[in-house]
Amino acid sequence: MLSHEGLLHLWRHIYKMTTPVTPLSSDCGRLCDAVCCKDWAPGVGVYLFPGEQLLIGDQPWLKRKWHDSRHYVFPPSWDRGGWFVTCNEDCPRHLRPFACRTFPLTADLDEEGNLSMVLDHNGASICPLVQSDTPELLTARFRATMKRAWEILLCLEPVRDDVLLASSRRRSEET
Ligand code: SF4
Ligand code: SF4
Repeated sequence: MLSHEGLLHLWRHIYKMTTPVTPLSSDCGRLCDAVCCKDWAPGVGVYLFPGEQLLIGDQPWLKRKWHDSRHYVFPPSWDRGGWFVTCNEDCPRHLRPFACRTFPLTADLDEEGNLSMVLDHNGASICPLVQSDTPELLTARFRATMKRAWEILLCLEPVRDDVLLASSRRRSEET
């Protein structure tokens, strides 16, 4: 695992490269009244990835709660749990968590370790872009930038383990 300074540097880089990109060239929030930024179900929120809390964990618009791995499922490399966060529905765009940035895409690793970007079907009940089942609707810039960001993040063992776990679940749901 990187040092505190190394993690901060990495997350600053990831935030900088992903801040300007959006799934569509126009605001996709107009399709759905920005439902993914609303309190659309009780207790909805996202996890911060390891080290991401160093950059935004103390922001006043965000509430964070430690989810202990004795009660929630995390890969062993997640160091006893992870930070679950909820927001006031109005974050400064340049500080939004990575989980919000990459949605509606997420990373998938196949059995040979090849990375691809797939639509995140965890969002199928709310997101018209996921419901379209057509990743090509998203801009090439968004898809390429997110893939590059995930490639960098996969160098962190906890991120890689998390993606491997999610990918293996996805494959077993598809069969
Ligand atoms: S739910 Fe989907 S379409 Fe709506 S704002 Fe979020 S990412 Fe965009
Ligand atoms: S943190 Fe920001 S981008 Fe994420 S759900 Fe809240 S308002 Fe939306």
